[in-house]
Amino acid sequence: MRTEEKEEEEEEEQWPSSRSAHEVLLIVLPYLHSLHELLSMSTVSRSLRDAIRDETALWTKIVVELPLSSRLTDDVLWEITSKSAGKLNTLILRQCLRITDKGLRRVVDANPLIRKIIVPGCTELTPEGIIGCVESLSKNNHNIETLHINGVHRFTKDHLSALSTYLPQEGAIDVEVCPKCDQVMMIPSCSRASCKRGRRHERKCRGCWFCVLRCRECAVCLGSDTEIQEAACGGDSLCLECWLVLPKCRFCNKPYCSSHSSLRHDVVTADPSAQPTFECQACHYRAGTNPYDAFDYQI
Ligand SMILES: [Zn+2]
Ligand SMILES: [Zn+2]
Ligand SMILES: [Zn+2]
Ligand SMILES: [Zn+2]
Ligand SMILES: [Zn+2]
Repeated sequence: MRTEEKEEEEEEEQWPSSRSAHEVLLIVLPYLHSLHELLSMSTVSRSLRDAIRDETALWTKIVVELPLSSRLTDDVLWEITSKSAGKLNTLILRQCLRITDKGLRRVVDANPLIRKIIVPGCTELTPEGIIGCVESLSKNNHNIETLHINGVHRFTKDHLSALSTYLPQEGAIDVEVCPKCDQVMMIPSCSRASCKRGRRHERKCRGCWFCVLRCRECAVCLGSDTEIQEAACGGDSLCLECWLVLPKCRFCNKPYCSSHSSLRHDVVTADPSAQPTFECQACHYRAGTNPYDAFDYQI
C-alpha cells in the first residue's frame, strides 16, 4: 500500500513546486468549461487541486451540466459558489433537477455581481423564485444581461412581462410569447433566406417548436414546398440539407439530429481504416446481439 508521504513525493516529482502547478493552471484555464472538467483536473495532483481551490477567478463562472447536474443539490451548489468569495458573475445550471428556489436565492444573495443566470430545465425552480432572484440582483442599479429559463415550468405572460422590466434588451430572456399558441415558449430564428427578410416580429413562420414544423438541426421552417426528412430520434424532422450531411444508421439510413446523437450505438470493427458506423436504437434493439438478425428480418 502506498503511504501518503510517498504519494506526496511522487507529486513533487510531477510538479516541482506549487508555482508550477499554478502555471499549468493558467495554461489550461481558458479550456476549462464546466465544473466537471474543473473537478477532473483537481484529481491530477494535490498541488494542482490546491491551486484550483485557491484560484478565486476560476470560480466566478460556474457551469454545471451533465453528468454532474443530476447530483447537484442546494448545499453542494452553495459550497461551490462560496469559492468565488462573492464575485460570481455567471451561473449556468443545465437540467439541475434538485436545485430549488431557496438554494438559488441563497447563492444570489451572497453574489450581487451575477450578470448571467442560465437555468434551462431546472424543473424544481418556479417563476416566482426566479423573479425574486432577478429583483434582488437588480437593486443598486446592477444590470442582469442574460436569463435563460426554457424548461422551467408555469411561466405565464405576466411573469414574463415582470421579468422584462428588469431585462428590457431584446434577446436577454430566451423565451417569448408564441404568437400562435400564446404560451411562453422558446421561439427559434428561422434560417431560411426568404423568412429572414423583414422584421423578426413580423415573420410569418414565427412560432414555437410545437406550432411550426422545423428542422431540428437548423430550425428552418418546413412547409409544403420543402422536402421533409425523418430523423431516427422519433418525431424529429430534418430539412434535406441537414439530412444529407448527418451520419446515418447502417440499417434504416435515418440520421440522428445532433442533440440526440448520444443515442447512436456505435459499431466497433476490427478494421482501423473502416468508416465509423452506427445503428439507431430501433434497429439495434430489433437486432438483439447480432446486428445481422435485423438484416435478415428486413428481408
Ligand atoms: Zn406556439
Ligand atoms: Zn436543417
Ligand atoms: Zn421560416
Ligand atoms: Zn436504424
Ligand atoms: Zn432528434
